Amino acid sequence: MTKHLYRTLTWPEVKERAAAGAVIVIGVAAIEQHGYHLPVDTDNVLVEHVTEEAARRSDGQILTAPMIHYGFNEHNMGFPGTINVRETVFIDFCYDVAHSFVRQGFDRIVFVNGHGSNQMLCNLAARRINNTTRALAGAVPHWALAREAVDKLRQSEYPGGMAHACEFETSIYMYLRPELVQGDKMVPRETPSRVSRFIYDDLFGSGPVHMVNRWSRITQTGVEGDPMLATEEKGKAFAECAIANLVEFARSFRQMEVPAEVDLNYRNETL
Ligand SMILES: [Zn+2]
Repeated sequence: MTKHLYRTLTWPEVKERAAAGAVIVIGVAAIEQHGYHLPVDTDNVLVEHVTEEAARRSDGQILTAPMIHYGFNEHNMGFPGTINVRETVFIDFCYDVAHSFVRQGFDRIVFVNGHGSNQMLCNLAARRINNTTRALAGAVPHWALAREAVDKLRQSEYPGGMAHACEFETSIYMYLRPELVQGDKMVPRETPSRVSRFIYDDLFGSGPVHMVNRWSRITQTGVEGDPMLATEEKGKAFAECAIANLVEFARSFRQMEVPAEVDLNYRNETL
């Protein structure tokens, strides 16, 4: 079977896979508080599962890179357990990792992100790849790949019911590592970021105004949403949907044609 994890390849094998046009998937997550009931590695566990399973099922089309474990998390530093990487450092770091793959000859890179506040930074790192190299890069949060399953199974209120350590994240963690979910410590429902019709937050749609407050100002538990609605069955369905969509996206991304770039600017040769 073709290897699906980049870390297991030798350098000649890396060269072969670049020549074969493998799509590089880079998981990006965070170490941060997830309420009283979930471990601080929640985002890592979810992203690792989705990205590694997708690669395993992709017939060699996806090669999953070692993850970026830490994320941009200043807003959560009021809670023990959280690690922060400054936003500009994070963009540069993600870019440098992706750019290293491009320098080896890979030309399709996807960041699959598991932490909300990383998303806009991953988007920018991907765009910098597109603007500075011949490769194409994109970025997607793994919950967006689970949309169809969420639409079918979601019981949380909208907006605010699925945001952090919520029905969505708790369900997948329960499915993957049930022994580490402390069900007796779950809080029933918290929607601290639903401030007004302009400012609210949910994995599946936020308010028109982007305003992320420092977290300890608005919640004592660190939860945003309703983990009491989580089940292992939902977790499996969410994860399976994300995996299937990631495999399908990688396949189409690989086949996407890149038209030649033209520069129509006037050139004054005397300058
Ligand atoms: Zn999370």
